[in-house]
Amino acid sequence: MNNGLMKKTLLDVRNVSIDYVNRNEAPAHAVEDVSFVLHEGEMLGLVGESGCGKTTLALSLLRLLPAAGRITEGEIFFKGTDWLDLTEKQMEEVRWKEISMIFQGAMNALNPVRTIGDQIAEAIRQHLGETRKSTLNAMVEELLDRVGIPPNRRESYPHQYSGGMRQRAMIAMALACSPDVVIADEPTTALDVMIQAQILELLSRLQKQLGLSVILVTHDLGVVAEVCDTVLVMYGGVTAEYAPVDVIYNFPRHPYTQQLLSAFPDLSKPTERLVSIPGYPPRLEALPPGCRFAPRCNKAFDRCHVEKPELRFLASDHAASCHLLEEK
Ligand code: SF4
Repeated sequence: MNNGLMKKTLLDVRNVSIDYVNRNEAPAHAVEDVSFVLHEGEMLGLVGESGCGKTTLALSLLRLLPAAGRITEGEIFFKGTDWLDLTEKQMEEVRWKEISMIFQGAMNALNPVRTIGDQIAEAIRQHLGETRKSTLNAMVEELLDRVGIPPNRRESYPHQYSGGMRQRAMIAMALACSPDVVIADEPTTALDVMIQAQILELLSRLQKQLGLSVILVTHDLGVVAEVCDTVLVMYGGVTAEYAPVDVIYNFPRHPYTQQLLSAFPDLSKPTERLVSIPGYPPRLEALPPGCRFAPRCNKAFDRCHVEKPELRFLASDHAASCHLLEEK
């Protein structure tokens, strides 16, 4: 991608494949051969339906896959170091300080029996080694203030916060050690529309104020249009399309991206009917032999059912995997 030629590359994910391996069962190929780069100050949207591998890919970047998850191929370079070569001890040193994560579902991710302030302080204690109570309190209050929570609410428990405040607290926790990259995994799911907009506005503001790079994991193309610079559309564990956000919205080339966009309302065309994508995403342990989107694709032809399409570059900053895009 050339949209970041002038910017420093922070994260360079190369040909990563991830399986889930359960005893006596065929491995589930959750992610296959996915590559992308994240530049300084960039917001990348990782988009797709549930089960397309986006959360698995996000967790792999921090080496936080569940026990059955295995990175079987690829490299994950952060500032030039392949994180897959680091020991778990070395990972503990860099996790949260370099890349942190806003986990899905704030209510589940927060400990219900500890105050919000305590939980943020714990992240600072663990990763930065700060133990002085007065310093910790000051740091927690500054973080809460940064995300729009009155500092005196640090003594409250998660159930005493609204859904939007809990999500803000999760963002404060992710910022606790001043990371360069924040991964936000569906940060607006389960919030009402007004609060969703506020959380997105907050993320976007913090990204600019702090010069953060953000990976936004979402199924919502509307969210991506609001805040992202670049978009990686995943389907069935593979890259469907990867391009700057304006290219994805104005010149989508992969039929999945096109169908996804038709399924989202366009406020400039209020009378248009929304189109749904028929069927369901493939099961990862029983993937179709050819193109993974073939059973649902409105442009599929015979070859699609037997041969996997290669990811091809249509421009230096635009790649997609579809047989229709082959040069004649
Ligand atoms: Fe559709 Fe075939 Fe392209 Fe797959 S390769 S997206 S099935 S046209």
